[in-house]
Amino acid sequence: MVAQLVDSFGRVATDLRVSLTDRCNLRCTYCMPAEGLAWLPGPELLTDDEVARLVEVAVCRLGVREVRFTGGEPLVRRGLVDIVSRTARLSPRPEISLTSNGIGLTRLAAPLREAGLDRINVSLDTLSPDTFARLTRRDRWNDVVAGLAAAAEAGLTPVKVNSVLMRGTNDHEAPDLLAWCLERGYELRFIEQMPLDAQHGWDRQTMVTAEEIIERLETRFTLVPDDPSRRGSAPAESFLVDGGPGRVGVIASVTRPFCGDCDRVRLTADGQVRNCLFARSESDLRTALRSGADDAELARRWQAAMAGKLPGHGIDDPSFLQPSRPMSAIGG
Ligand code: SAM
Ligand code: SF4
Repeated sequence: MVAQLVDSFGRVATDLRVSLTDRCNLRCTYCMPAEGLAWLPGPELLTDDEVARLVEVAVCRLGVREVRFTGGEPLVRRGLVDIVSRTARLSPRPEISLTSNGIGLTRLAAPLREAGLDRINVSLDTLSPDTFARLTRRDRWNDVVAGLAAAAEAGLTPVKVNSVLMRGTNDHEAPDLLAWCLERGYELRFIEQMPLDAQHGWDRQTMVTAEEIIERLETRFTLVPDDPSRRGSAPAESFLVDGGPGRVGVIASVTRPFCGDCDRVRLTADGQVRNCLFARSESDLRTALRSGADDAELARRWQAAMAGKLPGHGIDDPSFLQPSRPMSAIGG
């Protein structure tokens, strides 16, 4: 029998998020400072072979059924297509998805699809190229929109769009973003802004809450909560829009946490297991791997890393401390 990644509260992790790089070609204000960050040194990054080996351990020995590649920006990782193709050859074959800012997808969507990528989430927070340039500090709106079209064209459907709303910047755009996505057949999901930016600029008092997002959408659309049995451990609360079939999701990580149903585990680009996005400690698989640990030993260490998972992230708790790694280095 395949072992499982189970924690002391009985939650089983079957969804692995793999960060392939901490680097990025955008500088979203809710994620990174304008000058970027001190990137992980090359020798500390897992090689393509090391990533493939750890993904194999997770899928073949530890019951992981879904692998999502992320970053930083995963499309800047040269070996991405090969890593996806090696993941798709595993047995049992996991679901394979990607979270990306979309820049470069016009070139990569078709090869990724061919390599075995099943689904993609592309982040787009605004319909205004000017607002995009202010929010991401790069003038690349057209590239992202072209990337989304390329993903749909390549059959990476349903294409999902992730949006983070920032007060006074793009929070007035919620209904327009939804109309735009519905017209194109993209599934939009709003994500509440979380305290994961390197600059520590997050403020609980001013963040745009799920409740506000829903209120804003309801000024133009009728939203009916989707059948809750469809949600499972998915972080998004889903709503049927104007009777369906279009849907919209809201990920209320801060105001309505879903930690009790969490089935995630994360692997950073430098080979550290994180049992929670907000974990304040990590388990080093890279050193074990480079010191000659066999697959059984790596699996055992991975299981031990999961056992200590806390019951929740406690963002709303006065004693909450932001993790020292920013989102871009954890893998969102
Ligand atoms: N670069 C890719 C992208 O932007 O999609 C993948 C990595 S990014 C860290 C993954 C997701 O996290 C994106 O949808 C992004 O909008 C979201 N994100 C980044 N910082 C966030 C924050 N502070 N709060 C909530 N979501 C955030
Ligand atoms: Fe880059 Fe994604 Fe962070 Fe934006 S959210 S800076 S695209 S890693």
